[in-house]
Amino acid sequence: MQGIDLTSVYKQIFNSTVVAIGITDTAGRYTIVNPAWTNYLGYSEEEAKNLKISDITPIEDREGSDLSFSRLVSQKVKSIRTTRRFLNKAGNTFWADLNATALYDENNKICQILGLFVNIDPQKQAEEDLEKLNAQLTLANKELHEAMNKLSVMARKDPLTQLYNRRVLEEVMQREIQRSIRSERGLGVAIGDIDDFKKINDTYGHACGDEVLKQLANVFRSKVRASDTVGRWGGEEFLFVLPETTCKGAMVVIERIRKAVADIRVNCSGEEISFTISLGLSYQTESPQRESIVAEADKALYKAKADGKNRGYCYQKLDL
Ligand code: GH3
Ligand code: MG
Ligand code: MG
Repeated sequence: MQGIDLTSVYKQIFNSTVVAIGITDTAGRYTIVNPAWTNYLGYSEEEAKNLKISDITPIEDREGSDLSFSRLVSQKVKSIRTTRRFLNKAGNTFWADLNATALYDENNKICQILGLFVNIDPQKQAEEDLEKLNAQLTLANKELHEAMNKLSVMARKDPLTQLYNRRVLEEVMQREIQRSIRSERGLGVAIGDIDDFKKINDTYGHACGDEVLKQLANVFRSKVRASDTVGRWGGEEFLFVLPETTCKGAMVVIERIRKAVADIRVNCSGEEISFTISLGLSYQTESPQRESIVAEADKALYKAKADGKNRGYCYQKLDL
């Protein structure tokens, strides 16, 4: 390479590169550093000559750094390629990709260690930000899932009693009607209504009325089979869908419910109160119809109220 002064080329590279170059003796003391090095670490060239590698290494990383350095000096390894942190003069750390190699004298003895590094803090920061963002996203996703689950429960259940709402009851009835047609088995639908509930509200207050509804719901849940469905049809009216049973079997269920309700005791402002319900059942065998089965159950309920309440009637057994 005629005409080119390599020494001046090397000098130019040394001075203008963004790669930080630091040369230490075998004890880790800096002897030569380039402008990129002083720029990243905040020390001047003069100050660098009073520094050891450990001075620009965060305390918690010093042991590992010393170990790597001694492996290099003792020739256990030829070079080190690592991602590590540096500590600058201002006390801030940054991440860098470091390549360290031993330099040999004419007797082939290690005399210096050459360290080259590039600052990768922006990439590292971006990685960390991405990780944080990912963690936040995972959390947000989980919360969204929980909220959606809650929302779908809310859309299906009455908040006071936690019983299915009218919309779900309509769906269940539709489904059970189809099933009843396919299996050629009858379907029972019953409506229960609290007797003189207005009086409970008027005497003990609305909060007590709410407590009655809640306890009533617990009893309903415990008295129906897993294949049966109970929900809140209206204010103090409840609807039962009773598939896979006979008319007699459905009557047994509503009688069991009626008796269990009469046994409930609710403490209202220190006073123990009891109450009753009336029930109307309709049991249809051939192609049950949603509107008529509910209307018939309602008619049976109306008759049970008219006959003195606290009783359950089956529409098909009534002489209307
Ligand atoms: P009957 O024996 O004929 O059924 O008489 P009743 O008093 O039970 O019937 P009525 O339809 O006259 O009154 C129903 C009452 O139910 C009126 C209403 O304020 C009350 N109610 C409806 N929903 C709620 C509720 O969510 N909480 C409370 N505390 N009361 C309710
Ligand atoms: Mg009513
Ligand atoms: Mg009532």
